[in-house]
Amino acid sequence: MIDDNQIKELSQQIWQKLHNKNNQQVLITGEKSDLQIPIGVSNRHVHLSRQDMDILFGQGSSLTRLKAVKQPGQFAAQETVTLKGPKKEIKNVRILGPLRSRTQVEISVSDNFVLGIKAPIKMSGDLDKAEKIEIIGPKGRIEREHCTIVAWRHIHIPPELARQFNLSDGQKVSVNVGGIRGGVMKNVIVRATEASILEMHIDVEEANAYGLANDDIVTIAK
Ligand SMILES: [Zn+2]
Repeated sequence: MIDDNQIKELSQQIWQKLHNKNNQQVLITGEKSDLQIPIGVSNRHVHLSRQDMDILFGQGSSLTRLKAVKQPGQFAAQETVTLKGPKKEIKNVRILGPLRSRTQVEISVSDNFVLGIKAPIKMSGDLDKAEKIEIIGPKGRIEREHCTIVAWRHIHIPPELARQFNLSDGQKVSVNVGGIRGGVMKNVIVRATEASILEMHIDVEEANAYGLANDDIVTIAK
């Protein structure tokens, strides 16, 4: 039997755990596998630097917003370019805004075959071994070394949410996909950055292989 004093002591301990000395909010932690992650499918696209925008679209030109994408501040622009490889070219490739410090082209594996290049699977921004490409705009053309990648599949998650579900930036997880073409996607990189929204980014070919479309829900494998 627990007496009154013991109950008092226990409730004090619980209270202290819930309201620690710094008055920090207590994190509600959850199982990784409970996290419901919506899919975002990325088609081939280009991020441009200010300098390259000037060459391709004219000095001082700016991107015209076509539609917002889920990640805050980013948008699909009306402007498109042509990508040219040693084999063939691909027209009408969408530019994603806003402008960045460095030009980056993201394509699929089959685009590699069409263009005749060998862009490696890399995280966005990791351009050391990225492929060379020629980009053609209405006002000019550029050729850039270390520019083209096949984007590594990844999960965008706000840092706070990542902490709650015991996930850390840069971590690789496996993801469960349901449905007729379902399976486990290994080597999915967690990107816990401020001003992000929970979403898993895959390319069109990964989406088709697993029968996934925008806003379908996947979960992290245990
Ligand atoms: Zn992304």
